[in-house]
Amino acid sequence: MSNITCKKLTKKYADLQVVHGFDLEVKDEEFIVFLGPSGCGKSTILRMLAGLEDITTGTLEIGGRDVTTAEPGERGVAMVFQNYALYPHMTVRKNIAFGLRRSGLSAEEIDTKVNDVVQMLALAPYLDRKPAQMSGGQQQRVAIARAIVKTPEVFLFDEPLSNLDAKLRQQLRVEIAKLHKKLKTTTVFVTHDQLEAMTLADRIVLMNAGNAEQIGTPQEIYTKPRTLFVADFIGSPS
Ligand code: ADP
Ligand code: MG
Repeated sequence: MSNITCKKLTKKYADLQVVHGFDLEVKDEEFIVFLGPSGCGKSTILRMLAGLEDITTGTLEIGGRDVTTAEPGERGVAMVFQNYALYPHMTVRKNIAFGLRRSGLSAEEIDTKVNDVVQMLALAPYLDRKPAQMSGGQQQRVAIARAIVKTPEVFLFDEPLSNLDAKLRQQLRVEIAKLHKKLKTTTVFVTHDQLEAMTLADRIVLMNAGNAEQIGTPQEIYTKPRTLFVADFIGSPS
């Protein structure tokens, strides 16, 4: 659990500037959703938080520490991707335990932690399978378990439900909400899906062309869209 402060973040890919002075304060335990159309810079900002993309200019603090240039492993974050990104040659058990390999924990301690998250995500029947022997929804559960087992300060989710069919998407959305209620880990969740944003977010960051167009609770964004872009995107009255 941790607060996050983004100050005037910018990102340039070669000559193309795709993030323009992005500011955000995320509170401890908050569930923040980045919502916006494809190409508006949601993944880029998330990847800068994770340390998977360099920050061009600006500063980033996580838990009061300046991590602008810190290595991914030194930020206290764990990320879940749209395409699951599991290790295909490893079993489910090994995939989940992999993140703890440098934790200094004993084999028994690792087993206990893995078993805890396996219970939490109902993965017990699949422990000896390889990812290819599981459905998309099951694979994404494994990816979520792999993130949780690290007990990070911050969870980062990049469209984790976008590859799933409607029913699974809804199930896993409910599960993610429950997990947040239980663990209270500060979360930044990227989606282009309004329903996900409205149901999961404490606050929504509505993105447009590399910056926040409006930041507010789902209720505020829906009932008081500040710009025509927000009103159009949300389809709210006004
Ligand atoms: P979103 O996640 O909101 O769909 P992205 O952050 O992926 O948006 O992309 C924002 C912009 O940056 C887009 O114009 C995209 O084409 C561009 N972009 C993303 N990644 C790269 C990259 N590695 N190199 C060059 N341009 C990129
Ligand atoms: Mg994206």
